[in-house]
Amino acid sequence: MAKYVYLFKEGNQTMRNLLGGKGANLAEMTNLGMPVPQGFTVTTEACTRYYEDGQKIADDILAEIDQALAKTEAATGKKFGDSHNPFLVSVRSGARASMPGMMDTILNLGLNDEVVKGLAKLTNNPRFAYDSYRRFIQMFADVVMEIPKSNFEAILDHQKEAKNVEQDTDLDASDMEKIVQLYLEKYQELKGDKFPQNPKIQLIEAVKAVFRSWDNPRANTYRRLNNIPYEWGTAVNVQSMVFGNMGDDSGTGVAFTRDPSTGEKVLYGEYLFNAQGEDVVAGIRTPKPISELQKDNPEIYRQFHEISSKLEAHYRDMQDMEFTIEKGKLYMLQTRNGKRTAQAALKIAIDLVEEGLLSETEALLKVEPKQLDSLLHPQFDPSALKKAKVVATGLNASPGAATGRAVFTAERAQELAKKGQPVILVRQETSPEDIEGMAVAKGVLTSRGGMTSHAAVVARGMGTCCVAGAGKIKVYEEKRYFEVNGQKYNEGDFISLDGSTGNIYGEQIKTVDASVSGDFAKLMAWADKYRALKVRTNADNPRDAKQAYAFGAEGIGLCRTEHMFFEADRIPAMREMIVANNVKERQAALNKLLPMQKQDFIGLYEAMQGYPVTIRYLDPPLHEFLPTEDEDIAELAKDMGITFDELKATVISLHETNPMLGHRGVRLSITYPEIAVMQTTAVIEAAIEVNKRGMHVAPEIMIPLVGEIKELKYVKDIVIKTADEIIKKNNVKLDYLVGTMIEIPRAALLADEIATEAEFFSFGTNDLTQMTFGFSRDDAGKFLADYYQKKIFESDPFAHVDQKGVGKLMDLACKLGKSVRPDLKLGICGEHGGDPASVEFCHDIGLSYVSCSPFRVPLARLAAAHANIKRPRK
Ligand code: PEP
Ligand code: MG
Repeated sequence: MAKYVYLFKEGNQTMRNLLGGKGANLAEMTNLGMPVPQGFTVTTEACTRYYEDGQKIADDILAEIDQALAKTEAATGKKFGDSHNPFLVSVRSGARASMPGMMDTILNLGLNDEVVKGLAKLTNNPRFAYDSYRRFIQMFADVVMEIPKSNFEAILDHQKEAKNVEQDTDLDASDMEKIVQLYLEKYQELKGDKFPQNPKIQLIEAVKAVFRSWDNPRANTYRRLNNIPYEWGTAVNVQSMVFGNMGDDSGTGVAFTRDPSTGEKVLYGEYLFNAQGEDVVAGIRTPKPISELQKDNPEIYRQFHEISSKLEAHYRDMQDMEFTIEKGKLYMLQTRNGKRTAQAALKIAIDLVEEGLLSETEALLKVEPKQLDSLLHPQFDPSALKKAKVVATGLNASPGAATGRAVFTAERAQELAKKGQPVILVRQETSPEDIEGMAVAKGVLTSRGGMTSHAAVVARGMGTCCVAGAGKIKVYEEKRYFEVNGQKYNEGDFISLDGSTGNIYGEQIKTVDASVSGDFAKLMAWADKYRALKVRTNADNPRDAKQAYAFGAEGIGLCRTEHMFFEADRIPAMREMIVANNVKERQAALNKLLPMQKQDFIGLYEAMQGYPVTIRYLDPPLHEFLPTEDEDIAELAKDMGITFDELKATVISLHETNPMLGHRGVRLSITYPEIAVMQTTAVIEAAIEVNKRGMHVAPEIMIPLVGEIKELKYVKDIVIKTADEIIKKNNVKLDYLVGTMIEIPRAALLADEIATEAEFFSFGTNDLTQMTFGFSRDDAGKFLADYYQKKIFESDPFAHVDQKGVGKLMDLACKLGKSVRPDLKLGICGEHGGDPASVEFCHDIGLSYVSCSPFRVPLARLAAAHANIKRPRK
């Protein structure tokens, strides 16, 4: 029979899937003999069953909770509801992957009207007892009963005002007792029932609330952003309470074994005396740096330092720990591998290898490919920065440079970002409800909270620049402005943030591309040593190609030739080609395109310095290229020497109902073979020219949107005839390949036939996803949100390869293709080529390379290494 509840002493760190990260680590710390308040974990499987059973905790699980509770009570010598010797617990979520601040926590559970009196007597500290009860009522009401916290905060604020004090700590026992009364009345007023007095009912309701929180909107968003499957569920940890709010010999804090911003090996963190954990995390009071604990209480500091070193050596990774000091005794409440900036991740990984704690492959696995993104993002232009004026500083919570328009709500951030505006989200402090706004913001600025506040932790994880706790700025969220030094900044005004220094600027500052070196280069060199997949880039111009080469690209996997004609001075020739009414007109347009195209190819070949370059033939979905404005039509008509009406009629006749399924890709060259002739001429002449200068380019010509072998054969014959004539005329030797994209399901199904003609395949997973699902690439975004919300999809199939369906077609195509051409080169050039999970999938099905946008090349190199370390290719 399945076991759904484990005492801490029954578990260990290998049971993460079942006990969640927090539960497994509490068990492990217990086994290591560390001072952990005892308790038990209700498993992730119990969460899954809760949902399977229609959001109910089954009787057998309830019975197991009861037994574990009795054993924990016995171990601590305390009892639920016993006012002479009360047992109080915290109830916290803990999923397999850490989801900071995403789910809910309840502290001080077990208190009621009687127990609070007992606790006051027992501790001889009524202020503490009523403060704890007050906090519990608020948390229970908020998390379990969904009564907004603001109802209670208003009562607290009102009491403080009435007493004319600023800090909670200035309120005495009788104030707290009064506040508790008011809280209980408020609860009854809003709920219609009395606050539950039975601790067992409190506990079961709290466990259910944690299970429910797995499904709340912010948890769902966090999971989608971080690729965490819904089916994992969360565990619930029930742990006996220890109190940091029992007076000045008590306290609570969070600390990292290394600096999470820089990776430097120093104990780093914050603590508060006479406080409970949420005061530190929520950023309500500004905590002291952990180094001061050494002065305030050297013995506790020594113990904590020793435990943290032990934990780091044990887990062989930087730890993020929570602790509480209760009346001079230290307790460990949590440890986990700490979230860190990308810079810190690199430094820690490399240092741990140098310290002999990790091997190179283990160190590589410690760095998330997605994190590299933030290293590659822009910094301020140093000369522009020199002229800029710092208006205030805050904490350098997450590095990078950001410039954008100030907005004061997550909703507004999303609205402006959708319109393509760069935004900076400015808040007093952030909460998990702000996550979608943070995800689209270039930077986050808060006026309150420390380095471990929500804003700091979440922004760091996202790789978003963040300046936190800038106390000098006054943020008026509702009125949509902030003020600093008498200067007002309204919504829409440009500001800039430097997340590495904490500087805030009241103006727009130019940014420059990131440069990488040192630790980055070292880690990338390790990644290259251990990967089997090659990494190429998608690039359509020499600038991007050079950038990608600098990031380690080993060739071009996709050059979208139609993109070479987007610029204002080029698009007319492209349009002329599209609207041409006869071969002569088309040939005239193609003659204009040829020299531009040839010159671009030369640039690409040179940028790639002999690495393979794949040129994809024209694939313009017509709606992206046809002129729509009368003004443009008039101008083009003038260029072409025809009337406006004639051209307008052609444009109308070319209109397609489904352009993505229309006259594009190979279909164009079938109707207009002269296009393939022009492109082949450009590809081959450019290659001959650079090879004459001592390079060795062997172009790879790629035909898009093939679904039938005869389509490919028709165009391939034209390519070969044209190419061979040019090669012969120039009296040179030139190798080239002709291959195809696999982006139509029919091509995947008939890949053995296609491979008799195609010398390579490259999966165009954008179209393959579009056509496998039948979802329009251009429109799916509008309704996919409903799919996430209704749990039909967990993530966007256009961002992460749908391994089950689209992946099955890819796998099949690889096998069929190789069955007739064992040396068939296999690649991917859809957007998925830069998504870490999809890169791993491509490794697994045996592709030769992935191709992605230049800034994702390093990420793909690391993801490829991860895949080969985890599942080495034979
Ligand atoms: C694809 O379809 O995946 C692809 C790379 O081609 P495009 O996005 O240009 O259609
Ligand atoms: Mg395509």
